[in-house]
Amino acid sequence: ELTVKEIIAWLEISNTNIQENKAYLTELDQAIGDGDHGINMARGFQEVLNKVTDQEYEAISDVLKDTAMTLISKVGGASGPLLGTAFLKMSTAVKGQESLDTADFAAALNEAINGIKQRGKATEEEKTLLDVWSPMADYFSAVDQFSAEVITETAKDAMEKTKDMMATKGRAAYFKEKSIGHLDPGAVTSFYIFSGLAEAVK
Ligand code: ADP
Ligand code: MG
Ligand code: MG
Repeated sequence: ELTVKEIIAWLEISNTNIQENKAYLTELDQAIGDGDHGINMARGFQEVLNKVTDQEYEAISDVLKDTAMTLISKVGGASGPLLGTAFLKMSTAVKGQESLDTADFAAALNEAINGIKQRGKATEEEKTLLDVWSPMADYFSAVDQFSAEVITETAKDAMEKTKDMMATKGRAAYFKEKSIGHLDPGAVTSFYIFSGLAEAVK
């Protein structure tokens, strides 16, 4: 079960993962983008941490909402508003809930995915962060407990699959066939987010 405590830990570990891999994320975005993804995510998630560790929360939905608003307002690139929208949709989905089981979390992720799709006009297999979020929603719908190892493995597999995809959305789409053979930066960040969740539920 996820409570406020696990959600805060999730954000903390995600932030640590992203800060530690800031240069790598930027490198990935240099290959098929404009080379700012690590900077965007490191700034955004540091701001999230500053915001959520500065106060006591009673509701999961409030933590997720502050996360969303911070990502939307503090990150310049496409990834900030997209991930922000994901957290905002999750916030609405879990309103009034004190803890989340895997089904609740899957339902929240499905809302997040719909939000990302609406905002980014993208769908699966277009080599974006959706290609990690979407398999993760499917995974949590199919299980009844949070199992750290499998969460990380599932996210890693999904991330790795973006390598062979051709980008048709976002800046990477300008690279057309040349985008094939590179991991999608946003998918890698999403891997750090879900492996962060895995650590938080350990
Ligand atoms: P920008 O491309 O504006 O510089 P970032 O480099 O921070 O922003 O983020 C790029 C990532 O955003 C991509 O790797 C991809 O995962 C994600 N992304 C970009 N456009 C879209 C979209 N339309 N739908 C879903 N995800 C997208
Ligand atoms: Mg970029
Ligand atoms: Mg940019």
